[in-house]
Amino acid sequence: MHANFRLLTFISVLILSFAAQSGETMKANIVILATGGTIAGAAATGTQAGYSSGQVGVQALMEAVPQLQELANIRGEQVANVGSQDMDDSIWLQLAQRTNSLLAQDDVDGVVITHGTDTIEETAYFLNLVVDSNKPVVMTAAMRPATALSADGPLNIFNAVAVAADPEAAGRGVLVVINDDIHGARGMTKTSTTDVQTFVSAERGLMGATLYGDNRWFRHPYRTHTRDSTFSVDDLGVLPRVDVIYISAGVSPDLVDAAVANGAKGIVTAGVGNGNMTGAAVAAVARAVKQGVVVVRSTRVTSGTVGRKVEIDDDALGTVASGELNPAQSRVLLKLVLTKTRDPAQVQGYFDKY
Ligand code: ASP
Repeated sequence: MHANFRLLTFISVLILSFAAQSGETMKANIVILATGGTIAGAAATGTQAGYSSGQVGVQALMEAVPQLQELANIRGEQVANVGSQDMDDSIWLQLAQRTNSLLAQDDVDGVVITHGTDTIEETAYFLNLVVDSNKPVVMTAAMRPATALSADGPLNIFNAVAVAADPEAAGRGVLVVINDDIHGARGMTKTSTTDVQTFVSAERGLMGATLYGDNRWFRHPYRTHTRDSTFSVDDLGVLPRVDVIYISAGVSPDLVDAAVANGAKGIVTAGVGNGNMTGAAVAAVARAVKQGVVVVRSTRVTSGTVGRKVEIDDDALGTVASGELNPAQSRVLLKLVLTKTRDPAQVQGYFDKY
């Protein structure tokens, strides 16, 4: 009897330790790539508005959220540590290349990227166009620095890892998880300089939502992305210069001429209304197009679409309509498209597809 009991105990311990081990190996392997931003920002006190972005390293970000270990096997790498106002082509290329090489590994199931909120919509859309994998790539950020009272970063990181570890996230393109919302990269934008609830996906809505890692999924991306995208960063060392020009009543057309004179290969206009601009600006755009510069008409309005030939005759002017892409995301797409073509009709095709 005694011997039987010991044998039973031994078998139970074996089963339990096997279950614990397979639980470990069943967890997704997630790599956190940190790039800086307010999520890694620090202030002298918990209640002051002024702070510096990009002060805290990836290790400290992970240690602030020990609960991450329950969600996934986590490791971190520091790619950059900048305020995202200083994000540039070279960090984008480095980040994309590192993301691709990690996702090509069998022992990496997803990547989480921490970033500043100011330009996260640009980096997310860039990655959405050049990541060569269906595995989850989830970006996150924070509006309050790590040292603030009620810092929002730790829960955002927790939720981002929970989304990256969710098999349902695969194939939905690059996602941005912030303030319990799951945004698709395309079409999301920052709308408040200070509110924690700052991001909206105005035209097509959220990709999903999450509550302490409990994810709900609403839709799939409606445009080509990641694995199916034709864009690649494999052999790219630089990206062409594209300038955004903000249109207002009486805007100086000199701005368009100056962009061309300074070497812009593409221009995006943040137009009024349906991508409109003053007669003088139209004339300057016509000069730019004649010199081989590709001009995309976007809008400074926060929602709606810019259509071809609504008030401006794009066929005659040689311009491209941005559709639903805002000026910042139009600039990202145009930079990549210019690595392939400068023909306005073909550029329009890319804007209709991506
Ligand atoms: N300037 C900061 C950044 O984008 C703002 C933020 O992260 O919220 O890095």
